[in-house]
Amino acid sequence: MLLGVGGTDSLEGGCTTRVAVQMALRLREEMDLVLLDHPRLVRLNPTNPWKTRGNAALAMHLGTPGGAPRAIGEWDGEPIHSYPDGVDVPPSQEVLDAAWAVVEELTWIEDGRTNPGLVLSRGPPPPAWYDEAMHTILEVDTVERRLGDGGLLSRGEGSLRGLIGASAAIAWPTERTTWEPIAHRERDRWGTPRDVDAPSVKALDEHFPSTFDSYDHETGDLTMVPSSPCPVLFGIRGTDPGDLPRALGAIIGEKRAGWVEFVTNQGTDDHLVPKALSDVRPFESVVVRGEVTKAPRTIPGGHVLFEIADGRRHLAVAAYEPTKGFRHVVRELLPGDIIVACGSVREEPRTLNLEKFSLLALGTQTQVVKVGNPKCPDCGQSMKSVGTGAGYRCVRCGARAGEGDVIEETRSRDVAPGWYEVPTGARRHLARPLRLGLRPEMEAIGTDTSIC
Ligand SMILES: [Zn+2]
Repeated sequence: MLLGVGGTDSLEGGCTTRVAVQMALRLREEMDLVLLDHPRLVRLNPTNPWKTRGNAALAMHLGTPGGAPRAIGEWDGEPIHSYPDGVDVPPSQEVLDAAWAVVEELTWIEDGRTNPGLVLSRGPPPPAWYDEAMHTILEVDTVERRLGDGGLLSRGEGSLRGLIGASAAIAWPTERTTWEPIAHRERDRWGTPRDVDAPSVKALDEHFPSTFDSYDHETGDLTMVPSSPCPVLFGIRGTDPGDLPRALGAIIGEKRAGWVEFVTNQGTDDHLVPKALSDVRPFESVVVRGEVTKAPRTIPGGHVLFEIADGRRHLAVAAYEPTKGFRHVVRELLPGDIIVACGSVREEPRTLNLEKFSLLALGTQTQVVKVGNPKCPDCGQSMKSVGTGAGYRCVRCGARAGEGDVIEETRSRDVAPGWYEVPTGARRHLARPLRLGLRPEMEAIGTDTSIC
């Protein structure tokens, strides 16, 4: 039996992973149901305009105990186990009711922004349910009809949007995965500043190289520690589920209520779909190849905008201010460069929010750079600018010069072909850090001529 949970985030500090922990404890206590594997933390379409903070949903594979238990967490000093050799059991109304009671206790349904949904399924639904929730904006009606046609037990509240996440989470095929043990705070500390020792976080990269995105080396931020008032103390992302509990033990800080390790689609690039530039639609996240047709320019706010095209269609691309040093390399692009761009596409204005890119080929090996103002032909002094686009003037003898008279130099380009990515602090949940490797189809778009 798979139990899916969606829409339980709340701006008031509800936290989806807390709901999962509480459900697992309650179902064990009341119905002797246990987890048969790690609980799933699933991130869905990052462009969804209705999303809550992280657009997260959960799923749990439930059954009765059997075989040797495996510790995947700890709560109030007691271990939380999964039973890989446990016995699957069919869904029942009783399980749905017990799980719903936890939702009512832990979420803020009446605030109008929490729209929880639960779905119970015997076995996984078609992976398309996951794909559509990841790559399109699904309507609640579509999902409700599906659940009805499939005879699945479900319950929702408010807009019922939670049913979309719940049904997607149980349909996630878990082919590309990472893991995250999430530590929770003691209740009396909720909303207060978190006490987590920075040096112990910074040491993770060195001592536990299977972890990622814990710390931003550019800004010094502890990215694994949330800043919202939610009950989470921190979560450590990693690719080795066996390594992570030891990494968690190495973090120094305030007392924890407990922790549970989730299997997740974070850091998998599951949101990215390789496609031709002319097929790009809003609200999806894509990998596209194109030629830079308008040079990058920095607009107020520090955002860097440029444009790519495939001969038929143009697409605006943006590296926003929070991407910090990533913008330096983006500014080095020139018209004629061929790139593969990855990111989400917003509707209006139609812009790709750049997460990473590959510079495939430089359009030109050299660039002409202005290195100085014109020299006065009469006295040899460096002339002063009269105003943007208005030319130059010698302050000593009054001679004038045009914009084209500036001293220029031809230099080799200050950027090399290869992949570039945003820093840790600007990375969205689903985006895969380059050091974890690329999906093969993303490598292929650089050479596959059928794509554009
Ligand atoms: Zn002069």
